[in-house]
Amino acid sequence: MTRILFAALLATSAPLVAAPLTPIEVGALRDTALKDDYAWDIVEGLTTEVGQRLAGTEAEARGRVWAVAKLKAMGFANVRVEPFDMPVWTRGPEGAEIIAPFPQKLAIAALGNSGTTPPAGITGEIVHFDSVEALETAPDAAVRGKIVFISQAMPRTQDGSGYGYFGGPRRKGPGIAGKKGAMAIVVRSIGTDHHRNPHTGVMSFEGVRPIPAGALAVPDAEQLVRIIKRGKPVTMHLTLVSETHPGRSGNVIAELPGRDPAAPILLVGGHLDSWDLGTGAIDDGAGVAIATAAAKRIMDAGRPLRTIRIVWFGAEEPGIFGGLAYQAAHGKEPHYAAAESDFGADLVWKVNSKLGEARKPEAVALQLALAPLGVVPGATDEADGSDIDPLIEGGVPGVGLSQDGTGYFDLHHTPDDTLDKIDPEKLRQNVAVWTTMLAVLSGGIEEPKRSRRR
Ligand SMILES: [Zn+2]
Repeated sequence: MTRILFAALLATSAPLVAAPLTPIEVGALRDTALKDDYAWDIVEGLTTEVGQRLAGTEAEARGRVWAVAKLKAMGFANVRVEPFDMPVWTRGPEGAEIIAPFPQKLAIAALGNSGTTPPAGITGEIVHFDSVEALETAPDAAVRGKIVFISQAMPRTQDGSGYGYFGGPRRKGPGIAGKKGAMAIVVRSIGTDHHRNPHTGVMSFEGVRPIPAGALAVPDAEQLVRIIKRGKPVTMHLTLVSETHPGRSGNVIAELPGRDPAAPILLVGGHLDSWDLGTGAIDDGAGVAIATAAAKRIMDAGRPLRTIRIVWFGAEEPGIFGGLAYQAAHGKEPHYAAAESDFGADLVWKVNSKLGEARKPEAVALQLALAPLGVVPGATDEADGSDIDPLIEGGVPGVGLSQDGTGYFDLHHTPDDTLDKIDPEKLRQNVAVWTTMLAVLSGGIEEPKRSRRR
């Protein structure tokens, strides 16, 4: 008889989940995952053999080819690419220079979707604001024909909550400046470091004609504030060349087929694309590696009841194109839960879930199973992940495994997002957390036939 390794930590009302609690066996899987090398192998391979993977470019396409080969080699089934169309933005030559009163170069990077300057650049007077709100309330005449500068700083937090509000200058500033007739906009990077690395990222003009928009490295933004405080008019020469054209991206999908093809599936993933400045190691090579390694650990243990579907989403950075394409293609299929890893590679410290009132015992079982890994119980009525948000908003249950983000925004969207920033030990804790989550939600795992005793 086939031995059931474990079913669920609690008996639920689902008819196929009848086996008793076997926390010891969940624990064994968790401990094995703490020695994981699958995740490192994936993120090391992807960042080395492909490098940066800007959405819609041939680099991201090479990433998909790499992903398909890797997922097949790992033994996953139904490996495929689901393509979709999207506008593609690419970076050209860029630079910023103070012409007066104190001539000097500043470190800058164009923001995704920036308008372009002519190749020779533009020259304009700086008008300074300390927040988006200050820009918004300024009379148009104060901004028209000038280069807007927003100097607002972002605070460091464990949960990354500063990124929402304090990301406003990057996300909303360019649209507001454009609407008021500004020539261009530069913002203090949305980052918490003091390195001369600008942080890129996406913004949207929402119907306004795009203007050139860039982010200054944090020390350079602080330098510009000091120069402005000297009280003389400040003139900047700005080169931000870029182009936008119609293009293509795609989601890479693979599966570990469950014993019951009719059972709602478990979706885990991250995003394959990255910004173009680093090699997309923490954002989000680590995420696809963690989710995939966890699914592989379940595969090694046996066959889950539910199908586990892995998605390496395409084109998350420029606007969640992959998440929306997945929702359009698969949103109506029954999903048992969805989870995305997209916040670096530091330790998971909290588990949130949104499984619904009827599955509250399962949420608690998940909390108990993760506690030995140092994960604190969080909310049971919330879960998120940029690519899976469209699903969750559509009613799909979700799990949110929060990573420590204290240092995340030192590296996020900078040239410093590289493999050496990943601590292999912390990566293993992530895989153990994700493996445990899948074990609890998978509906029970049967040992593979080859290891059955006769
Ligand atoms: Zn990301």
